[in-house]
Amino acid sequence: MTRPLATLAVAAAVLTGLWIGSAAAGVEKLYVLDCGQNIGKDQSRWSPGVNEGKPIEFSNNCYLIRHDRGWLLWDTGVPDAVAASPDGVVVANGAITYRRAKTLAAQLEQLGVKPADVTFLAVSHTHGDHVGNVALFPSSTLLIQGAEYEWAMAGPNKPAFAATQPVRKLAGDHDVFGDGTATIISTPGHTPGHQSLLVQLPKSGLLVLSGDAVHFEDNWVHKRVPQMNVNRDQTLASLQRIAALLQERRAQLWINHDKAQSGTLRYAPAYYE
Ligand SMILES: [Zn+2]
Repeated sequence: MTRPLATLAVAAAVLTGLWIGSAAAGVEKLYVLDCGQNIGKDQSRWSPGVNEGKPIEFSNNCYLIRHDRGWLLWDTGVPDAVAASPDGVVVANGAITYRRAKTLAAQLEQLGVKPADVTFLAVSHTHGDHVGNVALFPSSTLLIQGAEYEWAMAGPNKPAFAATQPVRKLAGDHDVFGDGTATIISTPGHTPGHQSLLVQLPKSGLLVLSGDAVHFEDNWVHKRVPQMNVNRDQTLASLQRIAALLQERRAQLWINHDKAQSGTLRYAPAYYE
């Protein structure tokens, strides 16, 4: 009697500890990284009619996601070079000051993740507080909407992408690893190709990382559209799309720039499963 070859192969894999197929499938964990602070000179730029002339501090996070088939980094924050200026760096004609307490590079190193280990890099959009460190990952595939890429490259503030950066230009939603556990969701409006990320964590459940589709919890509640915004109708439709996801899929909404909400998160080296 002969045993089928496949059975032998499985038995050998189990015996040698190589059998990792079904136990650890999909997204395994998510780290929240500190990717800077933005200090806005006047909150009403983001919340029309609210706190006119009053400053507001934003959190700015990056999210590092471990999938059994690779690492995905969502957003890259303000440039690491900002960390060398303790008083920060003033941008947008004085409307915003960037600060960075620690670099993205140092936080990855602490986790033992090298830039070359990052398979996919995805940015919510191409504003400077999100694409500041794309060039740290010249071999990672950048996942960006085609509409966003063309818009950014035609504008006055071209992002500093490496000439050799592998870029996959998307046209709408995109299932990053092909198993539904990390899905880019098209949420245009703030910029022409703004996107969000729907993440399925094994214990924490579904999260929506909403980029700058909305800046603060209070703006979410009141569906406010910032002054600096490309298409108001698209932004409102994107907010509606996110609201439907939260309701239908019972997802949580993580608002990147909401400092109070970020204050409730566990930052790396802690992680979410
Ligand atoms: Zn932003």
